Amino acid sequence: MEVREYVEQVQKNLAAKDPNQEEFLQAVEEFLPAVIPFLEEHPEYVEKNILEIILEPERMIQFRVPWQDDAGNWQVNRGYRVQFNSALGPYKGGLRFHPSVNLSILKFLGFEQIFKNSLTDLPIGGGKGGSDFDPKKKSDSEIMRFCQSFMTELAKHIGPNLDVPAGDIGVGGREIGYLFGQYKRLREYDMGVLTGKPLGFNGSLGRTEATGYGAVYFVKHLLEDREDSFEGKKVLVSGSGNVAIYAIEKAHELGARVITCSDSNGYIYDEEGIDLDLLKDIKEVRRERLTEYVKERSSAEYYEGSVWEFEIDADIALPCATQNEIDGKKAEILVKNGVKVVAEGANMPSTMDAVKLYLEKGILYGSGKAANAGGVAVSALEMSQNSQRLAWTKEEVDSKLDGIMKNIYETCRDTAEKYAEKDNFAAGANIAGFEKVAAAMLAQGLV
Ligand code: NDP
Repeated sequence: MEVREYVEQVQKNLAAKDPNQEEFLQAVEEFLPAVIPFLEEHPEYVEKNILEIILEPERMIQFRVPWQDDAGNWQVNRGYRVQFNSALGPYKGGLRFHPSVNLSILKFLGFEQIFKNSLTDLPIGGGKGGSDFDPKKKSDSEIMRFCQSFMTELAKHIGPNLDVPAGDIGVGGREIGYLFGQYKRLREYDMGVLTGKPLGFNGSLGRTEATGYGAVYFVKHLLEDREDSFEGKKVLVSGSGNVAIYAIEKAHELGARVITCSDSNGYIYDEEGIDLDLLKDIKEVRRERLTEYVKERSSAEYYEGSVWEFEIDADIALPCATQNEIDGKKAEILVKNGVKVVAEGANMPSTMDAVKLYLEKGILYGSGKAANAGGVAVSALEMSQNSQRLAWTKEEVDSKLDGIMKNIYETCRDTAEKYAEKDNFAAGANIAGFEKVAAAMLAQGLV
């Protein structure tokens, strides 16, 4: 059978098995065609049916999470952990708390995590988990009780050499702290069981900033390759959470002006550049909505809807909110806006139509697997520090992060040139990420 036919058959079989897992099918459909040229040179993988095996998570755990709200009512949510692939190391990937969470979303995230983690060159497998719990408008005590109940079940399935979760949407330092505390009560003080821990107890300096900084470093190296830089560039950012805030911080540090950020209701346009101290205060300290920003900043305007519908000249777009935020129509607006580089701080923020348009129009496109790998890379560095019982300086972590992002950019670039076409960094990321995982799986007897 031709490799292309094999790949198409694999996608069809998957769609028949999981017809309702839209996001997972999308992530796979984006991935599979990219690895065809690689498989054509390596028929041993096709002979061993590696693709169908890699698409099946090693293990999926679903559990109930009962918890009591402040009014004394008992509530229940669903908890999940998808342990997707351990060919390169213990499962590693974040926990997401958001009402939209379901198995399809976690399988898409876990699947992408395998190849992202492989790209970092660090010894980590791929996994993802979370809950359909909505942390918005919950009191601190409710968040704590939920995290404790969630971990009471999850603790049976994780460990420093087995599975090491971290944060994602709705899970930051506060939640990781509560989760860690409960793990400690149930098992033992094992600092290596979670990453993204607060700095007071074995967290790594630079982890909070890592995903946002990493995405900007990815673009920095891409620009340097073209004798260009962030200096004077106008940047559009979506989201106003962990990834967005630190992408804005690093872009500003490198001389760019970030003029937008958003949440799920609307977006801010600040012509003078986002005031980061104010944004951090609103989002990280006061935990309020973005509408507060315009009340305190006269140069800013607030609009309801998606920031990607905003028509404004810009050079670089950094989507840092959530999956499928940019569809084909919004990508057309980006093209009209004059955007030349799109780098994804979020996971799969661009639909397949959007990505197609980026490539057609020659937009330099860093897919999430590559561009947002900085977060998990520094999580792996946190694991190293925990094992050594040492804490590295912020400068040390940051310079390692920069080096890792440079390496990821160059790997994507060189792999694209070898197997796909010049500047198709997304294809490069898929192939390079897959190459290592597939080789390890084969060597381990396809387990
Ligand atoms: P946060 O919870 O800190 O922030 C999420 C931001 O995205 C908020 O501004 C939120 O707005 C917005 N958002 C969430 N859902 C939607 C939606 N459906 N529509 C529009 N906006 C939405 O999460 P992170 O910053 O950690 O994560 C952002 C993205 O980055 C995700 O795709 C995540 O998977 C990815 N990522 C995160 C990493 C990390 O280290 N944290 C690592 C790698 C990738 P609102 O407050 O209104 O919900």
